[in-house]
This record gives sequence, structure tokens and C-alpha cells, in this order.
Amino acid sequence: MSHRLEWERVWSRCLAARVLIVAVIAAASACTSDSVSPDPDSNPPAAAPRSPSLNGDLRIYRNPYGDVNWSQDLRLKAQHHDHVARTFALPLITAYDAAGYDVLSLMDYSGKPSVFYSLQERPWPPERWVPPPILAALVNIKLFIPNGEEVGGDWHATSPFLTTYIEVAPAGGSAQPWQYRDTRDLLRLVRELGGLMCLAHPFNVTYEHLEDLRCVEIYNAFGEAAKTELPGNSLQTYDGNAALVAHWDRALAQNQDILGIAVNDHFGPGAARTATINPAALDSGKIIVMAKAATLDAYRSAFERGAFFAIRDRGIVKDRYPVIFSVSAGTTFVSIETNGNVSWKTGGSVVADGPVLRFAAIPANTKYVRAEVTDNDGSIVFTQAFVVRPTGDADADYDVDQDDQMICDAVRQGRESHPLRVAACRAI
Ligand SMILES: [Zn+2]
Repeated sequence: MSHRLEWERVWSRCLAARVLIVAVIAAASACTSDSVSPDPDSNPPAAAPRSPSLNGDLRIYRNPYGDVNWSQDLRLKAQHHDHVARTFALPLITAYDAAGYDVLSLMDYSGKPSVFYSLQERPWPPERWVPPPILAALVNIKLFIPNGEEVGGDWHATSPFLTTYIEVAPAGGSAQPWQYRDTRDLLRLVRELGGLMCLAHPFNVTYEHLEDLRCVEIYNAFGEAAKTELPGNSLQTYDGNAALVAHWDRALAQNQDILGIAVNDHFGPGAARTATINPAALDSGKIIVMAKAATLDAYRSAFERGAFFAIRDRGIVKDRYPVIFSVSAGTTFVSIETNGNVSWKTGGSVVADGPVLRFAAIPANTKYVRAEVTDNDGSIVFTQAFVVRPTGDADADYDVDQDDQMICDAVRQGRESHPLRVAACRAI
């Protein structure tokens, strides 16, 4: 043990020297070589010399947009939570198509046989569920996602990409292979059956302890519409959508892999325009996924990498929220090219304002940063979390020790080729 401690001291001294060398090289080479942007017009400002402070040794370990080709990838507008699959609601599919959606979840409440509004089968494949005249008339929708709002557990959750039906087990009875007991069990079952569970509108719950969770709603149009459409609902006085973002931040501190989505949930483009509803609240939750192709596989791959934006679209005219033209992560900064106002955040606090975040500005002990891009309508484009780790931390466990040295030796010898590890060792 003492041998290891001594070794770590040597390694960290060595590392500090290397960081200084890297800082000098980075300052000299400005941003041409360390930018990974494929866009030759993007022009981040020259990197400042890194300060030798505690903060100076943090870097972006994983950029969720690292595999995006900004000039070629598709920008698929998608909806992961609205109740279009119940028989009388099927015309809503036409409304989503007219609103320019490329991807739509085919879903409704599901998995609780004791309530009348819950489906007892998976509405999949679409050809079996959606009438041919509706399918034949689609202009924009390129693919449907199998999905459902699972309502049998303690909390509601959506189950994108799951193609089979699941339900809550009857109290006291034994669980069948398609049945679950509680939310934790539901998470496990969805993962094992090939889905990706996403917590639905956790306005009043925190969820740091849900290990299998990969996704959560961070904006839900229901939270806005309830202010006028649901008299007596606690969301009239409680800012549920602010709570969703705060809960996401708390969970990201524990698990930086949790993706954040924005959804419509009953208040999509085909929802009734009542006399009281704020038209800005309608169709105000959506995501834009940077997919390599308009196929379910390519879409899922991009979604799981986090190569998408969650949009709070608060314009009266829709789809005028800020555009993200590109995201570039270099060795000393990450930058967003956009026509909106960028704010970089972690743990509910602003780290920096403006399109460029220098790693030297990231506070000590930070595990992630994310950006919010805003406009004058009150719209917000949320990026997914950029994972932050110390320079030299090749295994992403937030320390720099012998394990990292072994990984980097393996990289140098060609025995280790994982892109994140190669990049981590290159950054030393
Ligand atoms: Zn719902």
C-alpha cells in the first residue's frame, strides 16, 4: 500500500509537469489542432494559458455530440411522450405529422389491468395499430418508436424501444416473466427486454438511487398547461418544470449518463385550444436527435449516445427556438455555435456565460457540465451532460492513479483502443 501511495505521488508530480507542458502547447497552437469541429468556419477564440490552480486539471471526458457530423447528420424532431395510440386519439398522429415531426412514439398508458384507461397490449408494430389511411397520408413522420407510459409502479415511466407488453404483477400473486413488482423492478425488466426506461414527469420525486435509470423528463408541457387547464392542481402554484431540471442536476451529480428529454404529454400540436390555455404551452416539449439515418436503429444509437437536444419551445409560432449549428470539444475548451444565448451550468449554478467554456473555468470537483441555450421567447435548448473528469483519469473514476497509468501504457502499446481512453491518455 505504501509503495502504491509513493508511486501515486510520483505520478501526480509527473502529471502536474505534463499539464504545464500541455498548457504551453495548447496556447501556442491556439484552437486549430485541438478543435474536433468538422466545420471549417467555426472559429473559437484562442485558448488562454491554463492556470496552475486546482481547477486547471479538469477536462471534458465525454462529449455526447462527439460523433455528430454537423453538416450531414439528420436533425430528427421527435416526441417521446404523448398519448396518440388510444383509438379515439389516432388523429393526433396526423396533427404531429402536420407539425413537422419526423419521429413519434406510438404509446398510451399501459400495464395496469385494473384501470380502464391502461392498454393491455403493446401497440406495435404500427401497421397493426394505425389505420392505413393515416399511415398512407403521412408526409413528415419517418418512423414510429415503440413506447408506453408504464403506470403499474409507484411512479410513471415511459419505455421507449420496448416492443413487448409488460404489466404490474397482481398483489400477492407470483410475477410472470412480463410482470414487475415496483419501479425498481420495472427498470430492470425494461432493460432486460431491450427497452430504455425514462422516468415520466418526476415533479415531486428525486431519483438518485435508481441505478438502471438512463433517461428522465426535464420538461413536460403538462406542467405548463396545468396552470390554466387543471383548477386545483398543485402545479398551478408549484413550478413543476423548474423542479424537473433541479432533480436532473441532483441525479447527474451521481450518474452523468442520465439523459434529459422534453415532452408534450397530452398537450401536443393536436390538443384542444381552449379559451384559457396559453398557446405557447402547446407543443412546447420535444427533442431534436442528430441521427445518421432515419431508421429506428440509427435513431436509438444517437439517442443513447446523448446526441440530441431537449427543447422547451415556448414560442407562439413553433420551432423558432435557437439553432445549435455545432458543438466542438477541444483539449482546453468546449464551444457551441448557435444563434441563441449560451449558459454553461453544473449543479444548478452557472459556470460560464457565452458560447465557449474553457476547462480552466470549471469549478473543482465538478462531475459534469451542460448548456442551456435561450432566446427572448423563453425557449430553452438543453444539451445533454458533458462528462467532466481530471486530466489523466483514463478510467473515469475521478482520480488519477496506477490504474490510469496502466491504461495509458496499454494505449501506447496498442493494446487499448477505446476512444474515450485513448483521448484521455492523449490529453495528458
Ligand atoms: Zn402521459
